[in-house]
Amino acid sequence: MPKIFKNPAEMIAARNEWLGSGLTIGFVPTMGALHEGHEALIKQARSDNKIVVLSIFVNPTQFNQKEDFEKYPNTLENDIKIAESLGVDAVFTPQYHDIYPDNYRYVLAENEFSKKLCGKDRPGHFDGVLTIVMKLFNIVKPCKAYFGEKDFQQLELIKGMVSAFFMDLEIIPVAIVRESDGLAKSSRNVRLNADGRALAPKIYQIISNSKNTDLASEELTKAGFVVDYVTDIGNRRFVAVKTKLTHDGGEVRLIDNVKI
Ligand code: AMP
Repeated sequence: MPKIFKNPAEMIAARNEWLGSGLTIGFVPTMGALHEGHEALIKQARSDNKIVVLSIFVNPTQFNQKEDFEKYPNTLENDIKIAESLGVDAVFTPQYHDIYPDNYRYVLAENEFSKKLCGKDRPGHFDGVLTIVMKLFNIVKPCKAYFGEKDFQQLELIKGMVSAFFMDLEIIPVAIVRESDGLAKSSRNVRLNADGRALAPKIYQIISNSKNTDLASEELTKAGFVVDYVTDIGNRRFVAVKTKLTHDGGEVRLIDNVKI
């Protein structure tokens, strides 16, 4: 059974003990509702480090839509079982007031890439991400931290933050884990109804096979998605779409990216 730490003071005491004994700490930050994508990060962390810390915190400051935050799945008991089965040493599950004693008065912002792609559709999203990740890094003090390429823009911004602030840890990218039909695994996929789930693999198929972003965008629209963006940057194609084919009729936003 992993140790469960509910507040920063407990987590800090444990990490001081581990670091004092010369143990390396690998860290996997998540918002819970764990699936095989998260599991890939945890497995990598398990094989690279003496100690593995998993955090589960649905970070309100990175949600720009109340509905998205309120409908975000919460499966903590099952998550802890998964953590146990993968040999996680500690699960850190703070509450808002523990981790934001400043009530988000202090914000870590990036002013270029964070305004593009998902940042355009979700103002303030990456400020919330960078701020929580900085807080978690300061609490856990990992040697290595693991992030999925599923959230490629997030991964790039976190690498940039670590470099800009001379932070003493390594960011390890982990490849996207997909369903057998190509859909990128995501905690939000459970919100899709049967029609939405049948449609969703088209995101990956279309961005992988279209000749250019305009055609991809057209095909996604024809398939029934509302397209936020399809953009090529370097050798990668990024996409974000929305659909209302959900169990509750609310909107869900899905992202993906592929090498081109
Ligand atoms: P989340 O819980 O959605 O904040 O994700 C936590 C971490 O898991 C992030 O680093 C994500 O990029 C990563 N992740 C989520 N889904 C996948 C996936 N399908 N493949 C690889 N990594 C993923």
